[in-house]
Amino acid sequence: MTDTSTRAERMATPLARDSIRKIAEASGGCLRPIQMRRTDTVTSQTEQVMKPCGATLASICPPCAERARSLRATQCREGWHLEDEPDAGPPAPDKTQEYWLTLRAEAQVCRDRAESHGEDTGDLDELLAELDTEITRAGVRGTVTTSTGSGKAGTRRSRSTRRRQDAPDLPRRKIGPQTLGKVFTAPDGKSYRPSMFLTLTCDSYGKVNDDGTPVDADTYDYERAARDALHFSALTDRFIQNLRRVLGYDAQYFGAIEPQRRLAPHVHMAIRGAIPRAVLRQVIAATYHQVWWPSTDVVRYDGDQLPVWDEDLSTYLDPATGEVLPTWDQALDALGPADDPLHVVRFGATFDAQGVLAGSKDANRCIRYLTKYLTKQVADCHRADTDVQRTHVQRLADALRYEPCSPACANWLRYSVQPKNAKAGLVPGACKGKPHRPEHLGYAGRRVLVSRKWSGKTLADHRGDRKAWLTETLGLEPPDPARYTWHVVTPSDRDYLPSDKRLLHIVADRARWQAALAEAKRRAQEADGNLSATGTEAA
Ligand SMILES: [Zn+2]
Ligand SMILES: [Zn+2]
Repeated sequence: MTDTSTRAERMATPLARDSIRKIAEASGGCLRPIQMRRTDTVTSQTEQVMKPCGATLASICPPCAERARSLRATQCREGWHLEDEPDAGPPAPDKTQEYWLTLRAEAQVCRDRAESHGEDTGDLDELLAELDTEITRAGVRGTVTTSTGSGKAGTRRSRSTRRRQDAPDLPRRKIGPQTLGKVFTAPDGKSYRPSMFLTLTCDSYGKVNDDGTPVDADTYDYERAARDALHFSALTDRFIQNLRRVLGYDAQYFGAIEPQRRLAPHVHMAIRGAIPRAVLRQVIAATYHQVWWPSTDVVRYDGDQLPVWDEDLSTYLDPATGEVLPTWDQALDALGPADDPLHVVRFGATFDAQGVLAGSKDANRCIRYLTKYLTKQVADCHRADTDVQRTHVQRLADALRYEPCSPACANWLRYSVQPKNAKAGLVPGACKGKPHRPEHLGYAGRRVLVSRKWSGKTLADHRGDRKAWLTETLGLEPPDPARYTWHVVTPSDRDYLPSDKRLLHIVADRARWQAALAEAKRRAQEADGNLSATGTEAA
């Protein structure tokens, strides 16, 4: 039979596969599900279960990204106006852990004593390393000292710890353990626990138009814009440390980092507890982060005149003289007290702060604001529509190209320093580090910053809450995790389903769940109706 339909008719008829995809998306079903085989260990029956891909970016899977965003919104909401202190944190060490930790402490004392007497500490350093391994084996997270390796003293370079003269001093209080803000009581006896919504921006790099592009692109400071973006997370950390010290308690925050229209990062923060504007202004003015890296003022190697890798010596050499380039550690050691830091990051003087009450319209609006861009890459938050905007994006990318992104960045070779952990094949301007990639605009750190005692729960806990709610609402038995084993089904398996078939499963699953949920809600409403009806009668 020949198809006699016209092209126009065909165009107006939806394609089956495309339609299934749209239905899956509209019902919140994952578009790239992972096929799992679930085996019931009691009955040996197997079932194919489609597990959501769990993407956080809408460009990969919009429904999963939206679910991840809404989970973040829940986390933000639960912590913001917390009324009771969250759990005190990790449990105390058990007997075995305590044994190893005590040994470790005693060994440290011996080692430090030996060092102060000018004795060789090699054996003791080895012992410390072995004890550290035992401590980790006993199930203790992290390390007992902040310095790396075996706790060698003297490996830390002494930097001037004097505050910068151009930054105001801050009052320093001892930080208490409490994480909750003040409660205010109104004359009518009602109590309020206000919290803050704060926005901090970078400094100005030159005047910008409404579309975010510079008024004068030639004087716009792209270098500073690039460096500020690279070191923005360190600055945010420093701000929180300073804030806690001034407030005298362990203030908690949920922050989201995203670019402004001018492409500079800014941070929105929900902070628990109210903070006077004057205090914020003071902390912002006094907060800075200094980057103690070698100078990049002089470009020593460029074009095809690049340092060459010596396989035998595992080191980079000057292409003309064969001289060994200073290593990263040597370059850092060479920085003297008279040197300036490579860069100092600060916030701009303008900030936005508002008090927000629990459960208010404002709180909901702020939470939407905080999570709005989480499903997008940094560079996709604002689309460049005009040539001027595209040029602006390009100029920032150009500035980031040769800016060292980390101690291991290939760009250090350009400035005659071997990158940390140097290896063959490093080319300045071609560093694979995330901050150089166009989608990050220099900021490749975490997009959501949540302090440890925010909601007292991990993201996995919040996800578990949601599952538990669903199980309860549907009146299901909570599944026994020990009863099932799970395996990922791969294309080489006999029961593997191609992606279009997996999507059909998703659509069917979603339809079933949604019907069950609607039915459960209807029943709950009915029960409520009966209750209030009896209530009226009784009254
Ligand atoms: Zn997905
Ligand atoms: Zn790099």
